[in-house]
Amino acid sequence: MSDRLSSELKYDHPEPRTIDEFLDQIRSQYCKEDLKRIEKAYHYSETAHEGQIRRSGEPYISHPLCVSSILSELNLDAPTIMTGLLHDTVEDTAVTLKNIEEEFGSDIRLLVDGVTKISQISFRNTHAKQGENIRKMIVAMGKDIRVIVVKLADRLHNMRTLNHMPYEKQARIAQETLDIYAPIANRLGISAWKVELEDLSFRYLKPDIFYELAQKVSKKKKEREKYIDEVRKILNSEMGKRAKIKPIIQGRPKHLYSIYRKMTQKNIDYDEVYDVLAFRVIVESMAQCYEVLGVVHSLYRPIPGRFKDYIAMAKANNYQSLHTTVIGPDGERIEIQIRTHEMHLVAERGIAAHWAYKEGGRADDKSAMRFEWLKNLMDWHRETGDSDEFLENVKSDLFESEIYVFTPNGDVKELPEGSTPLDFSYSIHTDVGNRTVGAKIDGRIVPLKHKLKNGDTVDIMTSPHQKPSKDWLKYCVTTRAKSKIRAFIRSEERKRSVALGTELLEKEFRKHGYKLESFVDTDHTNKFLESIGAKGIEELYAQVAYGKQMPLKAVERMVPDFRKEEDKPKEEDNSSFLGRMFKSNKKRKGTSLIKVDGMSDLLVHYAKCCNPIPGDPIVGFISRGRGVTIHQAACPKTFEIDPGRRVDVEWAGSEHAQERHTKIRVVCHDIPGLLKLMSDAFTANGVNIHNAQIKTNNDRKAICVFDVVVKDTSQLTRTIQSLEKIKGVIRAERMHYS
Ligand code: MN
Repeated sequence: MSDRLSSELKYDHPEPRTIDEFLDQIRSQYCKEDLKRIEKAYHYSETAHEGQIRRSGEPYISHPLCVSSILSELNLDAPTIMTGLLHDTVEDTAVTLKNIEEEFGSDIRLLVDGVTKISQISFRNTHAKQGENIRKMIVAMGKDIRVIVVKLADRLHNMRTLNHMPYEKQARIAQETLDIYAPIANRLGISAWKVELEDLSFRYLKPDIFYELAQKVSKKKKEREKYIDEVRKILNSEMGKRAKIKPIIQGRPKHLYSIYRKMTQKNIDYDEVYDVLAFRVIVESMAQCYEVLGVVHSLYRPIPGRFKDYIAMAKANNYQSLHTTVIGPDGERIEIQIRTHEMHLVAERGIAAHWAYKEGGRADDKSAMRFEWLKNLMDWHRETGDSDEFLENVKSDLFESEIYVFTPNGDVKELPEGSTPLDFSYSIHTDVGNRTVGAKIDGRIVPLKHKLKNGDTVDIMTSPHQKPSKDWLKYCVTTRAKSKIRAFIRSEERKRSVALGTELLEKEFRKHGYKLESFVDTDHTNKFLESIGAKGIEELYAQVAYGKQMPLKAVERMVPDFRKEEDKPKEEDNSSFLGRMFKSNKKRKGTSLIKVDGMSDLLVHYAKCCNPIPGDPIVGFISRGRGVTIHQAACPKTFEIDPGRRVDVEWAGSEHAQERHTKIRVVCHDIPGLLKLMSDAFTANGVNIHNAQIKTNNDRKAICVFDVVVKDTSQLTRTIQSLEKIKGVIRAERMHYS
């Protein structure tokens, strides 16, 4: 790996053994003042670590010195270099953060504090704790990205010297590096570090395979070098001839871990991994990149589907290059990356390259340095309370491969593979996400669950009547979309439970001749709320809605000197029929019915015995802890339920109601072709068949039971009518109760 591009990186230096060696190495990168501060930090750290010895037997200061040297290779700013030197002082020596601030200022204090905190995070604990810990790390990163860069350099040096660690620790540290640090380096675009972290982890985790593979790769070294030379010569002369370009061309085998990953993913042997060789062509300008691509494709046949234009569509970590895989000389597959010097620097150093371009890399650059995904992670951190959920999100965000899709304006969105229009729309704005009904991809309408492909242009279709449902969670993969949908459902359910609970309580109060409003904010009520642990009246309503508090109980507790209805003198009993009608009408107006719209949620369930669908006359019953269960009004089961739990419900008639299952039974003659006609009848009415069971009996009749998905009773009725019109059908009917 040592030959990797080292010639191309301006600041790639060997490990310094003394501060003077280090200062010599970095003299051209920093101004005099910075060098002085760096030297001061070194001596401060050396004194603090005095007498401490690394496992390798070297004085401890050799480690922070190497960490800073690694950092300086990315041309990071002086505070970062100083932090590298000081990063272990607070954790491992008597030095305090206050000391650091007094000596070096608050900026360095914050950085050292951040690194110390990350070092204290352990990733080997149980699942939930790991989520919590990654969360902490992300928060630390969000505050100042330099913290994580120092931590990565620290880990890189520790991995380089891992052989001095006891065997059991090696595997654990290597696994943690592979799981957490390498993906983060990748996300920050620091590919030089990512590659080295992966290979070092691989070496300690699977030493047998690692060394076997290393041997195989090096065995063919001579052969390969000849081959690389040959390709380089051809490319060079052709490019000079045809495009007058003098590029830098590098050829190398891919790093061992990536070869190993390919072998395990495809379940193949080393000999079967054919694109082991990767070439890199580095040119002066973007235009030259495309010229070179033209030359390469005219020389060697490109493999379809392997060309990627990351120049037009930069990756989220700002990586840019053209990638192609071609059949090179001797039928060998070779991968070629084409980029400019500047792109190359970004590719190797990632986030640090942008930062280095700006002199100093001070406060206002920090915000520019924060990559989009990091910002998103921070948002999610704020929104999710659940560390399991967070872990899942972070993992998928770190590891998923990406696709690039376009907005109609030509903006690029980067999304994980498997993303849908929902992921896309939530990446634009929550309000857009919440109102998404579908999308047009290259002019064609696709449903919400459609999986987007690289290069799709996605035009989101919205409707002001649309709102998210639980099902949506199945149709999206990004954290952002999922957490926004969950948040919406939570707030909707809260609203609904409060409304439903208010309704139920009002009804109960009226039943006993009281008005709920008069008892809402009394000392008596507040005491009651306190006794049930409710923070306010709304929480009581919600509890009532979920059946956690029974309405009668609440009335008894809220009304001082409560008397039951039956103990009270009856009133208005002799009123006329019309009077009663009038009264009940008025009453109906004042109380809105509980609306159900066919969607199941935490509050509303549909009884399995009668399976009501929109349009059916219905009735609801409060079930303890489960909200309201909806039955068909004529369902026999309803007679078994305590009438005191009964509530009035009504279909809301939402046009976006979830479709519901129901069964249709068809008795018909057993004639060929009839099933096809029936199936056509379903299709003609827009009804999907979910399942069908057909039984024939001796008298040449067949009984078919179709499990179908319908919107409402009118659609169902139409379908049954169509079925009955079919010649040969004797009878078609809905199966009501089971
Ligand atoms: Mn360290």
